[in-house]
Amino acid sequence: MRCPVCGKEMEQGFMQGNQRVAWVKSKHKVSILPRKGEVLLENKAFNSFLFAAWICKSCQKILVDYSDKNYQEG
Ligand SMILES: [Zn+2]
Repeated sequence: MRCPVCGKEMEQGFMQGNQRVAWVKSKHKVSILPRKGEVLLENKAFNSFLFAAWICKSCQKILVDYSDKNYQEG
């Protein structure tokens, strides 16, 4: 995967963390129901989440793949 910003080859790995993950339009507390236009990517209140992700360490960007997720769009 090439970095969409600088074009260098990105390093593949995972992005890992805990609880809920969402793409939101503005900063707010992530709830179970995403607001209009927002995407709730992961909702594991008690487990950790894992996303396939590519990193560009040159321009500090991470590209996340959520195609295998059971996501919820508001
Ligand atoms: Zn880059």
